[in-house]
Amino acid sequence: MVQPGSRKPPGEECTRPGPLGRTRPSVILVAPHVATLLATWTAGSPGGSPCHHSGVSDETINPTTPTRRRVSARLSAIAESATLAVDAKAKALKAAGRPVIGFGAGEPDFPTPQYIVEAAVAAAQDPVNHRYSPAKGLPALREAIAAKTLRDSGYEVSPDHVLVTNGGKQAVYQAFAAVVDPGDEVLLPSPYWTTYPEAIALAGGTPVEVFAGSDQDYLVTVEQLEAARTPRTKALLFCSPSNPTGAVYSPEQTAAIGRWAHEHGVWVVTDEIYEHLVYDDAVFTPMLRAVPELADTTIVLNGVAKTYAMTGWRVGWMVGPADVVKAATNLQSHLTSNVANVSQRAALAAVSGDLSAVETMRAAFDERRRTMVRMLRDIDGVEVPTPRGAFYAYPNVEGVLGRTIRGRTPQTSAELAALILDEVEVAVVPGEAFGPSGYLRLSYALGMDDLVEGIGRIQELLR
Ligand code: PMP
Repeated sequence: MVQPGSRKPPGEECTRPGPLGRTRPSVILVAPHVATLLATWTAGSPGGSPCHHSGVSDETINPTTPTRRRVSARLSAIAESATLAVDAKAKALKAAGRPVIGFGAGEPDFPTPQYIVEAAVAAAQDPVNHRYSPAKGLPALREAIAAKTLRDSGYEVSPDHVLVTNGGKQAVYQAFAAVVDPGDEVLLPSPYWTTYPEAIALAGGTPVEVFAGSDQDYLVTVEQLEAARTPRTKALLFCSPSNPTGAVYSPEQTAAIGRWAHEHGVWVVTDEIYEHLVYDDAVFTPMLRAVPELADTTIVLNGVAKTYAMTGWRVGWMVGPADVVKAATNLQSHLTSNVANVSQRAALAAVSGDLSAVETMRAAFDERRRTMVRMLRDIDGVEVPTPRGAFYAYPNVEGVLGRTIRGRTPQTSAELAALILDEVEVAVVPGEAFGPSGYLRLSYALGMDDLVEGIGRIQELLR
Protein backbone atom coordinates (compact mmCIF):
# COMPACT_ATOMS: atom_id res chain seq x y z
CA MET A 1 0.00 0.00 0.00
CA VAL A 2 1.37 3.39 -0.96
CA GLN A 3 0.28 6.46 0.85
CA PRO A 4 0.89 10.00 -0.30
CA GLY A 5 2.98 12.13 2.03
CA SER A 6 1.04 13.11 5.08
CA ARG A 7 2.22 16.69 5.02
CA LYS A 8 0.29 19.47 3.40
CA PRO A 9 1.69 22.48 1.60
CA PRO A 10 2.18 25.63 3.66
CA GLY A 11 -1.14 27.30 4.30
CA GLU A 12 -3.01 24.00 4.52
CA GLU A 13 -1.06 22.45 7.35
CA CYS A 14 -3.44 23.82 9.92
CA THR A 15 -5.77 20.86 9.52
CA ARG A 16 -3.07 18.22 9.53
CA PRO A 17 -3.45 15.71 12.33
CA GLY A 18 -0.58 16.11 14.73
CA PRO A 19 1.12 13.37 16.68
CA LEU A 20 -1.28 11.27 18.68
CA GLY A 21 -3.94 11.82 16.03
CA ARG A 22 -5.08 15.22 17.24
CA THR A 23 -5.57 18.17 14.98
CA ARG A 24 -2.75 20.52 15.60
CA PRO A 25 -3.07 24.30 15.55
CA SER A 26 -0.74 25.92 13.05
CA VAL A 27 0.51 28.44 15.58
CA ILE A 28 2.06 26.56 18.41
CA LEU A 29 4.86 28.68 19.77
CA VAL A 30 2.98 31.45 21.54
CA ALA A 31 3.99 32.62 25.01
CA PRO A 32 1.05 32.97 27.47
CA HIS A 33 1.10 36.77 27.58
CA VAL A 34 1.15 36.93 23.80
CA ALA A 35 -1.70 34.42 23.62
CA THR A 36 -3.84 36.70 25.81
CA LEU A 37 -3.10 39.63 23.55
CA LEU A 38 -3.90 37.61 20.48
CA ALA A 39 -7.15 36.42 21.97
CA THR A 40 -8.13 40.06 22.56
CA TRP A 41 -7.39 40.95 18.96
CA THR A 42 -9.28 37.95 17.72
CA ALA A 43 -12.36 38.80 19.74
CA GLY A 44 -12.71 42.06 17.85
CA SER A 45 -11.97 40.71 14.41
CA PRO A 46 -14.63 39.49 12.04
CA GLY A 47 -14.11 36.07 10.55
CA GLY A 48 -10.75 34.41 10.65
CA SER A 49 -9.34 31.23 9.32
CA PRO A 50 -11.45 28.25 10.31
CA CYS A 51 -8.20 26.33 10.47
CA HIS A 52 -7.13 27.86 13.73
CA HIS A 53 -8.09 26.14 16.91
CA SER A 54 -6.44 28.58 19.24
CA GLY A 55 -9.01 31.17 18.21
CA VAL A 56 -6.22 33.04 16.47
CA SER A 57 -6.11 33.58 12.73
CA ASP A 58 -3.15 34.65 10.65
CA GLU A 59 -5.02 37.80 9.78
CA THR A 60 -5.30 38.79 13.41
CA ILE A 61 -1.82 37.84 14.44
CA ASN A 62 -0.35 41.12 13.37
CA PRO A 63 -3.03 43.73 12.70
CA THR A 64 -0.63 46.09 10.95
CA THR A 65 0.55 43.59 8.34
CA PRO A 66 -2.49 41.42 7.76
CA THR A 67 -0.86 38.73 5.65
CA ARG A 68 2.17 38.15 7.87
CA ARG A 69 2.36 35.08 10.07
CA ARG A 70 4.17 35.18 13.38
CA VAL A 71 5.66 31.72 13.07
CA SER A 72 6.81 30.75 9.59
CA ALA A 73 4.78 28.25 7.59
CA ARG A 74 7.79 25.98 7.47
CA LEU A 75 8.20 25.72 11.22
CA SER A 76 4.47 25.79 11.96
CA ALA A 77 4.22 22.59 9.97
CA ILE A 78 6.64 20.75 12.25
CA ALA A 79 4.97 18.52 14.80
CA GLU A 80 6.37 18.12 18.28
CA SER A 81 8.28 14.85 18.62
CA ALA A 82 5.52 12.50 19.78
CA THR A 83 7.96 10.08 21.34
CA LEU A 84 9.61 12.80 23.40
CA ALA A 85 6.15 14.14 24.32
CA VAL A 86 5.01 10.76 25.66
CA ASP A 87 8.26 10.36 27.55
CA ALA A 88 7.99 13.87 29.02
CA LYS A 89 4.39 13.26 30.10
CA ALA A 90 5.32 9.99 31.81
CA LYS A 91 8.27 11.64 33.57
CA ALA A 92 6.10 14.57 34.71
CA LEU A 93 3.46 12.23 36.15
CA LYS A 94 6.20 10.28 37.89
CA ALA A 95 7.68 13.46 39.32
CA ALA A 96 4.20 14.30 40.64
CA GLY A 97 4.27 11.06 42.60
CA ARG A 98 2.24 8.85 40.24
CA PRO A 99 3.45 5.23 39.83
CA VAL A 100 3.75 5.62 36.07
CA ILE A 101 5.64 3.08 34.00
CA GLY A 102 7.00 4.46 30.74
CA PHE A 103 7.54 2.41 27.60
CA GLY A 104 8.05 5.56 25.54
CA ALA A 105 11.75 6.25 25.79
CA GLY A 106 14.08 5.36 22.96
CA GLU A 107 17.15 5.12 25.15
CA PRO A 108 19.05 2.42 27.00
CA ASP A 109 18.53 2.52 30.77
CA PHE A 110 22.20 1.63 31.41
CA PRO A 111 24.81 4.20 32.43
CA THR A 112 27.50 5.03 29.89
CA PRO A 113 30.44 2.61 30.40
CA GLN A 114 32.98 3.92 32.90
CA TYR A 115 35.99 4.07 30.54
CA ILE A 116 34.03 6.42 28.29
CA VAL A 117 33.04 8.67 31.18
CA GLU A 118 36.67 8.75 32.32
CA ALA A 119 37.83 9.88 28.89
CA ALA A 120 35.32 12.71 29.08
CA VAL A 121 36.48 13.75 32.55
CA ALA A 122 40.08 13.88 31.36
CA ALA A 123 39.00 15.87 28.29
CA ALA A 124 37.17 18.39 30.43
CA GLN A 125 40.44 19.08 32.30
CA ASP A 126 42.37 19.84 29.13
CA PRO A 127 42.09 23.48 27.99
CA VAL A 128 42.49 22.44 24.37
CA ASN A 129 38.93 21.15 24.62
CA HIS A 130 37.66 24.47 25.95
CA ARG A 131 37.98 26.04 22.50
CA TYR A 132 36.28 25.83 19.13
CA SER A 133 37.44 22.91 17.03
CA PRO A 134 36.83 22.06 13.36
CA ALA A 135 33.09 22.06 12.53
CA LYS A 136 33.51 18.73 10.79
CA GLY A 137 34.68 16.94 13.93
CA LEU A 138 37.99 16.21 15.67
CA PRO A 139 40.36 14.55 13.16
CA ALA A 140 41.11 11.76 15.66
CA LEU A 141 37.41 10.98 16.01
CA ARG A 142 36.80 11.00 12.25
CA GLU A 143 39.72 8.60 11.83
CA ALA A 144 38.34 6.35 14.56
CA ILE A 145 34.91 6.37 12.91
CA ALA A 146 36.49 5.36 9.60
CA ALA A 147 38.34 2.51 11.40
CA LYS A 148 35.17 1.45 13.20
CA THR A 149 33.28 1.41 9.90
CA LEU A 150 35.85 -0.98 8.48
CA ARG A 151 35.67 -3.17 11.61
CA ASP A 152 31.87 -3.29 11.89
CA SER A 153 30.66 -2.80 8.32
CA GLY A 154 33.52 -4.27 6.33
CA TYR A 155 34.28 -1.45 3.88
CA GLU A 156 36.75 1.42 3.78
CA VAL A 157 35.86 5.06 4.06
CA SER A 158 38.13 8.06 4.14
CA PRO A 159 38.01 10.13 7.35
CA ASP A 160 37.45 13.07 4.98
CA HIS A 161 34.05 11.62 4.17
CA VAL A 162 32.96 11.58 7.82
CA LEU A 163 31.07 14.48 9.41
CA VAL A 164 30.57 14.40 13.20
CA THR A 165 27.13 15.73 14.18
CA ASN A 166 25.16 16.62 17.29
CA GLY A 167 23.60 13.22 17.62
CA GLY A 168 22.31 11.06 14.81
CA LYS A 169 19.34 13.41 14.64
CA GLN A 170 21.38 16.27 13.23
CA ALA A 171 22.85 13.86 10.70
CA VAL A 172 19.29 13.00 9.58
CA TYR A 173 18.43 16.66 9.03
CA GLN A 174 21.68 17.48 7.28
CA ALA A 175 21.49 14.44 5.03
CA PHE A 176 18.12 15.50 3.66
CA ALA A 177 19.13 19.17 3.55
CA ALA A 178 22.13 18.14 1.45
CA VAL A 179 20.34 16.13 -1.25
CA VAL A 180 16.66 17.16 -1.33
CA ASP A 181 15.33 20.07 -3.37
CA PRO A 182 11.79 21.46 -3.16
CA GLY A 183 9.50 19.16 -5.10
CA ASP A 184 11.65 16.08 -4.63
CA GLU A 185 9.97 12.98 -3.24
CA VAL A 186 11.57 10.75 -0.65
CA LEU A 187 10.30 7.19 -0.25
CA LEU A 188 9.70 6.53 3.41
CA PRO A 189 8.97 2.97 4.50
CA SER A 190 6.23 3.16 7.11
CA PRO A 191 5.97 2.75 10.09
CA TYR A 192 8.88 5.20 10.24
CA TRP A 193 10.81 6.97 12.96
CA THR A 194 8.92 10.17 13.66
CA THR A 195 11.80 12.54 12.80
CA TYR A 196 12.21 11.45 9.16
CA PRO A 197 9.13 13.09 7.60
CA GLU A 198 9.83 16.32 9.43
CA ALA A 199 13.44 16.40 8.22
CA ILE A 200 12.38 15.62 4.64
CA ALA A 201 9.68 18.30 4.65
CA LEU A 202 11.96 20.90 6.20
CA ALA A 203 14.31 20.35 3.28
CA GLY A 204 11.38 21.09 0.94
CA GLY A 205 10.82 17.47 0.00
CA THR A 206 7.69 15.35 0.11
CA PRO A 207 7.76 12.16 2.15
CA VAL A 208 5.99 9.37 0.28
CA GLU A 209 5.00 6.68 2.73
CA VAL A 210 5.25 3.07 1.66
CA PHE A 211 3.40 1.06 4.25
CA ALA A 212 4.32 -2.44 5.39
CA GLY A 213 2.07 -3.73 8.17
CA SER A 214 2.43 -6.52 10.68
CA ASP A 215 1.24 -9.02 8.03
CA GLN A 216 4.54 -8.47 6.22
CA ASP A 217 6.64 -8.12 9.37
CA TYR A 218 6.97 -4.39 8.66
CA LEU A 219 9.37 -5.02 5.76
CA VAL A 220 8.72 -3.20 2.48
CA THR A 221 9.39 -4.97 -0.78
CA VAL A 222 11.10 -3.80 -3.95
CA GLU A 223 7.72 -4.10 -5.71
CA GLN A 224 6.15 -1.66 -3.27
CA LEU A 225 9.01 0.78 -3.66
CA GLU A 226 8.84 0.53 -7.43
CA ALA A 227 5.08 1.20 -7.35
CA ALA A 228 5.75 4.37 -5.36
CA ARG A 229 8.62 5.62 -7.54
CA THR A 230 7.94 8.62 -9.79
CA PRO A 231 10.20 10.89 -11.88
CA ARG A 232 10.41 13.08 -8.77
CA THR A 233 11.78 10.34 -6.50
CA LYS A 234 15.13 11.52 -5.24
CA ALA A 235 15.89 9.27 -2.30
CA LEU A 236 14.88 6.34 -0.15
CA LEU A 237 15.12 6.31 3.62
CA PHE A 238 16.25 2.90 4.85
CA CYS A 239 16.41 1.99 8.54
CA SER A 240 17.40 -1.52 9.61
CA PRO A 241 17.22 -2.51 12.46
CA SER A 242 14.15 -0.32 12.59
CA ASN A 243 12.81 2.17 15.02
CA PRO A 244 9.83 1.85 15.61
CA THR A 245 9.14 -1.75 14.55
CA GLY A 246 12.28 -3.69 15.48
CA ALA A 247 12.23 -5.22 11.98
CA VAL A 248 15.55 -6.25 10.42
CA TYR A 249 15.97 -6.75 6.67
CA SER A 250 17.86 -9.88 5.63
CA PRO A 251 21.10 -9.53 3.62
CA GLU A 252 19.16 -10.59 0.48
CA GLN A 253 16.36 -8.07 1.07
CA THR A 254 18.87 -5.31 1.76
CA ALA A 255 20.82 -6.12 -1.40
CA ALA A 256 17.65 -6.26 -3.51
CA ILE A 257 16.53 -2.84 -2.30
CA GLY A 258 20.01 -1.39 -2.75
CA ARG A 259 20.30 -2.76 -6.30
CA TRP A 260 16.87 -1.38 -7.16
CA ALA A 261 17.92 2.07 -5.86
CA HIS A 262 21.15 1.95 -7.83
CA GLU A 263 19.40 0.88 -11.01
CA HIS A 264 16.99 3.83 -10.81
CA GLY A 265 19.44 6.47 -9.57
CA VAL A 266 17.61 6.78 -6.25
CA TRP A 267 19.79 8.02 -3.39
CA VAL A 268 19.80 5.96 -0.21
CA VAL A 269 19.90 7.50 3.25
CA THR A 270 20.60 4.49 5.45
CA ASP A 271 20.22 4.87 9.22
CA GLU A 272 22.42 2.24 10.85
CA ILE A 273 22.30 3.50 14.44
CA TYR A 274 20.95 0.17 15.80
CA GLU A 275 23.60 -1.91 14.00
CA HIS A 276 24.74 -3.76 17.14
CA LEU A 277 21.29 -4.58 18.53
CA VAL A 278 20.07 -7.69 16.72
CA TYR A 279 18.58 -10.89 18.14
CA ASP A 280 17.80 -14.50 17.22
CA ASP A 281 19.20 -15.26 13.80
CA ALA A 282 18.95 -11.68 12.53
CA VAL A 283 22.10 -10.08 11.15
CA PHE A 284 22.76 -6.44 10.50
CA THR A 285 23.59 -5.78 6.85
CA PRO A 286 25.39 -2.51 6.07
CA MET A 287 23.83 -1.14 2.87
CA LEU A 288 27.22 -0.33 1.34
CA ARG A 289 28.57 -3.78 2.01
CA ALA A 290 25.51 -5.28 0.32
CA VAL A 291 25.72 -2.93 -2.67
CA PRO A 292 29.15 -1.22 -2.82
CA GLU A 293 28.35 0.45 -6.14
CA LEU A 294 25.88 2.68 -4.27
CA ALA A 295 28.76 4.52 -2.54
CA ASP A 296 28.42 7.64 -4.66
CA THR A 297 24.70 8.03 -3.91
CA THR A 298 24.42 6.84 -0.32
CA ILE A 299 24.59 8.62 3.01
CA VAL A 300 25.18 6.43 6.07
CA LEU A 301 23.87 7.72 9.40
CA ASN A 302 25.10 6.44 12.73
CA GLY A 303 26.01 7.49 16.27
CA VAL A 304 27.07 6.40 19.73
CA ALA A 305 23.70 6.87 21.46
CA LYS A 306 22.24 3.38 21.24
CA THR A 307 25.42 1.26 21.13
CA TYR A 308 27.13 2.78 24.16
CA ALA A 309 24.15 4.13 26.18
CA MET A 310 25.19 7.68 25.28
CA THR A 311 21.92 9.38 24.30
CA GLY A 312 22.69 12.46 26.38
CA TRP A 313 26.18 13.04 24.97
CA ARG A 314 24.88 13.99 21.53
CA VAL A 315 27.39 12.51 19.12
CA GLY A 316 26.43 11.05 15.77
CA TRP A 317 27.89 11.14 12.30
CA MET A 318 27.20 10.89 8.63
CA VAL A 319 29.40 9.27 6.01
CA GLY A 320 28.85 10.14 2.37
CA PRO A 321 30.35 11.24 -0.93
CA ALA A 322 32.78 14.17 -0.73
CA ASP A 323 30.47 16.80 -2.28
CA VAL A 324 27.55 15.94 0.00
CA VAL A 325 29.69 15.85 3.13
CA LYS A 326 31.20 19.19 2.16
CA ALA A 327 27.75 20.75 1.69
CA ALA A 328 26.50 19.34 4.99
CA THR A 329 29.66 20.56 6.74
CA ASN A 330 29.08 24.06 5.39
CA LEU A 331 25.54 23.97 6.78
CA GLN A 332 26.75 22.69 10.15
CA SER A 333 29.47 25.37 10.29
CA HIS A 334 26.70 27.98 10.38
CA LEU A 335 24.21 26.00 12.42
CA THR A 336 26.04 24.48 15.38
CA SER A 337 29.79 24.42 14.60
CA ASN A 338 31.68 21.61 16.28
CA VAL A 339 30.04 19.07 18.55
CA ALA A 340 31.09 19.66 22.18
CA ASN A 341 34.73 18.57 22.40
CA VAL A 342 34.24 16.70 25.66
CA SER A 343 31.51 14.62 24.05
CA GLN A 344 33.66 14.01 20.99
CA ARG A 345 36.50 12.73 23.23
CA ALA A 346 34.01 10.43 24.97
CA ALA A 347 32.82 9.18 21.58
CA LEU A 348 36.43 8.62 20.56
CA ALA A 349 36.94 6.34 23.57
CA ALA A 350 33.68 4.57 22.71
CA VAL A 351 34.31 3.83 19.04
CA SER A 352 37.97 2.93 19.55
CA GLY A 353 37.17 0.51 22.37
CA ASP A 354 35.76 -2.98 22.06
CA LEU A 355 32.11 -4.01 21.90
CA SER A 356 31.91 -5.89 25.21
CA ALA A 357 29.67 -3.27 26.89
CA VAL A 358 27.12 -3.35 24.08
CA GLU A 359 27.12 -7.15 24.17
CA THR A 360 26.18 -7.05 27.88
CA MET A 361 23.36 -4.61 27.16
CA ARG A 362 22.22 -6.58 24.12
CA ALA A 363 21.90 -9.73 26.21
CA ALA A 364 19.76 -7.86 28.77
CA PHE A 365 17.57 -6.35 26.03
CA ASP A 366 17.14 -9.78 24.50
CA GLU A 367 15.77 -11.25 27.72
CA ARG A 368 13.37 -8.33 28.16
CA ARG A 369 12.32 -8.59 24.52
CA ARG A 370 11.30 -12.22 24.96
CA THR A 371 9.38 -11.46 28.14
CA MET A 372 7.61 -8.48 26.59
CA VAL A 373 6.60 -10.33 23.44
CA ARG A 374 5.35 -13.34 25.41
CA MET A 375 3.24 -11.16 27.72
CA LEU A 376 1.84 -9.04 24.88
CA ARG A 377 0.85 -12.14 22.94
CA ASP A 378 -1.24 -13.24 25.93
CA ILE A 379 -3.59 -10.30 25.35
CA ASP A 380 -6.64 -11.08 23.26
CA GLY A 381 -6.67 -8.99 20.06
CA VAL A 382 -2.97 -8.09 20.17
CA GLU A 383 -0.71 -9.42 17.43
CA VAL A 384 3.07 -9.03 17.72
CA PRO A 385 5.51 -9.87 14.94
CA THR A 386 8.79 -10.90 16.61
CA PRO A 387 11.02 -7.82 16.81
CA ARG A 388 14.54 -8.84 15.83
CA GLY A 389 16.47 -5.64 16.35
CA ALA A 390 16.73 -2.29 18.20
CA PHE A 391 14.73 -2.26 21.47
CA TYR A 392 11.10 -1.87 20.48
CA ALA A 393 8.07 -4.11 20.11
CA TYR A 394 5.37 -2.91 17.73
CA PRO A 395 2.12 -4.77 18.42
CA ASN A 396 -0.84 -4.52 16.08
CA VAL A 397 -3.77 -3.63 18.35
CA GLU A 398 -6.54 -3.40 15.74
CA GLY A 399 -8.21 -6.38 17.44
CA VAL A 400 -8.64 -4.33 20.61
CA LEU A 401 -10.08 -1.20 18.96
CA GLY A 402 -13.85 -0.85 19.12
CA ARG A 403 -14.05 -2.82 22.35
CA THR A 404 -15.56 -1.12 25.40
CA ILE A 405 -13.02 -0.96 28.19
CA ARG A 406 -13.98 0.64 31.49
CA GLY A 407 -16.72 2.61 29.82
CA ARG A 408 -14.60 3.90 26.92
CA THR A 409 -14.48 2.55 23.38
CA PRO A 410 -11.17 3.46 21.72
CA GLN A 411 -11.41 3.58 17.93
CA THR A 412 -7.77 4.51 17.28
CA SER A 413 -4.44 3.57 18.78
CA ALA A 414 -4.07 7.16 20.01
CA GLU A 415 -7.31 6.75 21.99
CA LEU A 416 -6.14 3.37 23.27
CA ALA A 417 -2.79 4.80 24.41
CA ALA A 418 -4.63 7.60 26.24
CA LEU A 419 -6.92 5.05 27.89
CA ILE A 420 -3.95 2.94 29.00
CA LEU A 421 -2.25 5.99 30.50
CA ASP A 422 -5.38 7.23 32.24
CA GLU A 423 -6.54 3.90 33.60
CA VAL A 424 -3.38 2.01 34.51
CA GLU A 425 -0.69 4.71 34.34
CA VAL A 426 1.37 3.06 31.65
CA ALA A 427 2.84 5.23 28.86
CA VAL A 428 3.10 3.76 25.35
CA VAL A 429 3.48 5.57 22.02
CA PRO A 430 0.56 5.18 19.59
CA GLY A 431 1.13 4.17 15.97
CA GLU A 432 -0.08 7.58 14.78
CA ALA A 433 3.38 8.92 15.71
CA PHE A 434 4.96 6.61 13.14
CA GLY A 435 2.35 6.19 10.42
CA PRO A 436 -1.11 4.62 10.41
CA SER A 437 -3.25 4.07 13.48
CA GLY A 438 -3.71 0.56 14.84
CA TYR A 439 -0.33 -0.01 16.50
CA LEU A 440 1.55 0.78 19.68
CA ARG A 441 5.29 1.12 20.20
CA LEU A 442 6.76 -0.15 23.45
CA SER A 443 10.42 0.21 24.23
CA TYR A 444 11.97 -2.62 26.24
CA ALA A 445 14.93 -0.48 27.31
CA LEU A 446 13.69 -0.44 30.90
CA GLY A 447 14.28 -2.69 33.92
CA MET A 448 12.67 -6.14 33.96
CA ASP A 449 10.59 -5.49 37.10
CA ASP A 450 9.01 -2.38 35.62
CA LEU A 451 8.52 -4.15 32.32
CA VAL A 452 6.64 -7.04 33.89
CA GLU A 453 4.59 -4.71 36.09
CA GLY A 454 3.72 -2.40 33.18
CA ILE A 455 2.69 -5.10 30.70
CA GLY A 456 0.87 -6.85 33.55
CA ARG A 457 -1.24 -3.72 34.06
CA ILE A 458 -2.04 -3.57 30.32
CA GLN A 459 -3.00 -7.27 30.40
CA GLU A 460 -5.29 -6.62 33.34
CA LEU A 461 -6.93 -3.66 31.57
CA LEU A 462 -7.46 -5.35 28.21
CA ARG A 463 -8.37 -8.77 29.52
N1 PMP B 1 17.95 7.21 14.13
C1 PMP B 1 17.06 6.44 14.76
C2 PMP B 1 16.40 5.35 13.99
C3 PMP B 1 16.76 6.65 16.10
O1 PMP B 1 15.87 5.88 16.72
C4 PMP B 1 17.39 7.72 16.78
C5 PMP B 1 17.07 8.03 18.23
N2 PMP B 1 15.77 7.80 18.62
C6 PMP B 1 18.32 8.49 16.08
C7 PMP B 1 18.58 8.22 14.76
C8 PMP B 1 19.04 9.67 16.67
O2 PMP B 1 19.72 9.40 17.82
P1 PMP B 1 20.60 10.51 18.51
O3 PMP B 1 20.24 11.83 17.93
O4 PMP B 1 20.26 10.42 19.96
O5 PMP B 1 22.02 10.15 18.22
